[in-house]
Amino acid sequence: MSRVAYVNGQYHPHGQAMVHVEDRGFQFADGVYEVWSIFDGRMADFDGHMTRLHRSLNELRIDIPMSREALTRVLHETIRRNRVRNGIVYLQVTRGTARRDHPFPAEGTPPSVIVTSRSISASEAEAQAKKGVAILTQPDIRWGRCDIKTVGLLANVLAKQAAREAGAYEAWMVDEMGLVTEGSSTNAWIVDEHGKLRTRDTQANILKGITRTALMALIQQEKLELDERPFSVDEAKRAREAFFTAAGAFVMPAVSIDGTTIGDGTPGPIATRLRTLYLEQARRDAI
Ligand code: PMP
Repeated sequence: MSRVAYVNGQYHPHGQAMVHVEDRGFQFADGVYEVWSIFDGRMADFDGHMTRLHRSLNELRIDIPMSREALTRVLHETIRRNRVRNGIVYLQVTRGTARRDHPFPAEGTPPSVIVTSRSISASEAEAQAKKGVAILTQPDIRWGRCDIKTVGLLANVLAKQAAREAGAYEAWMVDEMGLVTEGSSTNAWIVDEHGKLRTRDTQANILKGITRTALMALIQQEKLELDERPFSVDEAKRAREAFFTAAGAFVMPAVSIDGTTIGDGTPGPIATRLRTLYLEQARRDAI
């Protein structure tokens, strides 16, 4: 099946979809993105991701490229043309194309908009979640505005690659105090040795994950105790459970951190239950 990508108003065969060499996304990582997971061709947590997109654009003073309705149509159409039933849809908006120069381009320079979509094997992800995955910790070397979902992901890329080279699935980034900030592309959680759910607060320099927010509502509904407070690598290694959240990964149980086994080395009951609840809700509410 041939893939299709949306670029600035047109759908192109994936292999021929191009942006200009002086697109500011390419030159400066001057752009933002969002990822929605897709269930039966429909997007989960739709409003949350759309609202965060607008916030990211606002924070960087990039023009809103098109109405919410028009953008929704493009997302749906890209999913449809790629015949994706389960997978992800990716949206990127950059400050547009202009002669390479650091200051913002002239007012009225249209932002660039690209959308791609691809299938992900649900059974493969389920198998991984059943077994649990390994985490490697890495120093957090990122800039001070990780609350904005920018395409400037070099530090995240290096952390994820270090994890993969160590045979781990995800990297958890760690600040100078030895506290976990977040995953390279996920939010980090534990069930601590006292049985309390813990995840870092978003006043700190991390991304406010949409999956994280959705999970918090489920945690409240389940009447589980949550402490929105950072945890150290040592606390994580002593935790009963560890897991991470993101669109695409949903709730993914971790069974080791830097080679130290977490709990009994199998996915914990709370992470497993939250994964089931999240998937039920995401599937039900997808649009
Ligand atoms: N933190 C980082 C650094 C991420 O890149 C992501 C995923 N884009 C997340 C957290 C999780 O966010 P979400 O649940 O909105 O996918």
